Amino acid sequence: MLAYLVIRPLLDKNYGADFEAYCPFGGMQALASFFSSNTLTCSMTTVQIATGLAVLFGVIVVSKLFCSYICPIGTVTEWIGEQARKMKMQVTLSGKPDRFIRILKYSLLFITFYYSVSSSELFCRKFDPYYASFTGFSGDVVWYFALPALILTMVGSFFIRQFWCKYLCPLGAITNLAAYALPSVSLALIWVLANSIFPGTISWIWLAACICLLGFLLEATTLKFLIFPPLRITRNSGICTSCRICDKKCPMSIPISTVDKVNHIDCHLCVECVVKCPEKAALTINNKQWNWLPSAASVILIASALIISSAYELPTISERWVETSRIKEAGVFEMSGLKNIKCFGSSRSFANQMKEVPGVLGVETYVKHHKVRVYFDTKLTGSEKIKEAIFSPYSEFLNSPAAGLTTIKTFSVGIDHCFDPNDQSLLAELFRDQKGVMSLETTFGEPIQATFYYDPGLISSEKIKSRIEQKSVELKGEEGTFTVEPGFAINSKGQSEGTMEKAAFLERYFESRDVKFNKFDSYSASSVKTLNLPFPSAMDPEMQDWIPYLVSQLSNDDGVIRFKIEFTSSDPLLLISYVPTMTTRDKIIKLMNEPTFMVHYPDKSVKKVKNPFPIVLSGSGKESK
Ligand code: SF4
Ligand code: SF4
Repeated sequence: MLAYLVIRPLLDKNYGADFEAYCPFGGMQALASFFSSNTLTCSMTTVQIATGLAVLFGVIVVSKLFCSYICPIGTVTEWIGEQARKMKMQVTLSGKPDRFIRILKYSLLFITFYYSVSSSELFCRKFDPYYASFTGFSGDVVWYFALPALILTMVGSFFIRQFWCKYLCPLGAITNLAAYALPSVSLALIWVLANSIFPGTISWIWLAACICLLGFLLEATTLKFLIFPPLRITRNSGICTSCRICDKKCPMSIPISTVDKVNHIDCHLCVECVVKCPEKAALTINNKQWNWLPSAASVILIASALIISSAYELPTISERWVETSRIKEAGVFEMSGLKNIKCFGSSRSFANQMKEVPGVLGVETYVKHHKVRVYFDTKLTGSEKIKEAIFSPYSEFLNSPAAGLTTIKTFSVGIDHCFDPNDQSLLAELFRDQKGVMSLETTFGEPIQATFYYDPGLISSEKIKSRIEQKSVELKGEEGTFTVEPGFAINSKGQSEGTMEKAAFLERYFESRDVKFNKFDSYSASSVKTLNLPFPSAMDPEMQDWIPYLVSQLSNDDGVIRFKIEFTSSDPLLLISYVPTMTTRDKIIKLMNEPTFMVHYPDKSVKKVKNPFPIVLSGSGKESK
């Protein structure tokens, strides 16, 4: 599975691997969050919850199967350990250190659950060496947690036998707690009872802390399973020749050759000892030749989890803002395919957005199918209004108008399958490098209305339509080109064309700035001159944030008193007002073209900033009174 997740993106650039798609540990945290606050953590769905439950159920009915047959970290750390053993550089901890250091994994388990359940975000993402390695330390990974965790895991696994599995792995801790199911569940029942007698007095945090402490104490003092798991390695001392090969081959360094039954808490039924034993039937599982059973059970459990989870989905957020009786009579609006409903955070902002809509009584979000369900008062609102409230209009300036263009054409068209913000962003992407299309705006309607602002000399509305409906399109991304199949369809309803003056068009997207400084008001109009310069940077989205730096640089000349941008029927103009008795146009031009700007900050500090303007500003501007 891991190889598939790594190799497929290399072959298929459109495939984004999800390294948490089946993460049982994430699922367990999501389930805890669901019980605690009726929300699921992050992007976790019933898939991860079901795999998490399958792992725990597996411990109770078979053994710690995840550790032996699925865990990617266990596989890697075991390989590292093998290299160290070949070099005779590895030690096996025993005695008190072996028992005491096990507290680390229970502490990590408690901390992870505490933060994940409190925030509904997956805390383990911040430090998980597996997640950090396969995502390239991107996303939610906090490098100063993840990098030391990765180094510690690698170095520790080299020098100390099964360092990660025995001492650090929080999933290992929770599977051991499943093996100690009876005492753990007993504690949980006591907590439920106490809370039913004294409601809300004992937080779940105390329960989690007590269960983790209990798990550590049981493990450190006994190093043994109690009742679960039911399957154990058994040794027939009549057949065994005491060659001790099994002891050497056991990845957990369990002394097998001296016991009749392996009850050690570290045994995860990998059957390595059984396979490597030279005496047939000396080692068995529960005195039966069931070597095949653990691997078969792993496959069956995970497959069952995936099948069950595909039939039912828990909501990531389920909120009601009114009493249950009103919800029973409420109208229900459902919508799927909302790609921006993808995690707890996006679900939270959707719920907040809906809370402001009059008549909406509650929401549920389902991130696996990007689906929302909205409950509403039918007397106050309706499905159409809710759909409109969900819709986010899109507006993006894509390309600057060509020099000399004075009139811009508009083309409005209804587009099917373009409701989601991600789809609208993809629609803009189709035209980003399309000469002649200057901007795109969308408005709500059935279907969604998209308006393109374009240069009729470079592109036609027919070409725009055919680009929208193109079956597959090659786009440029950060890692090269990739192909997308947009799936948009032109709707025959509501097509229209129009025109717009260039100045009015630019004013829709850019600020026409007017900044006065250096005692502007103290000068009479007759004592001031204005320098007019063509200023194409005014219609360059990337230069907008730099314009205040230019204003600051100009303010260094006491004779410059005003900075104004004006959008005209031709190119934008920069109007610089100055006092000719104090400065000259050449001085101003020189100041603007300095390689370094002296920029004044609000805290009164002055810093040097490299002149960011790509075009050397022309000195041929006109002057006016
Ligand atoms: S490898 Fe087999 S024969 Fe050798 S000690 Fe272990 S159980 Fe006995
Ligand atoms: S005792 Fe046998 S089954 Fe258990 S971990 Fe060791 S090698 Fe694997």
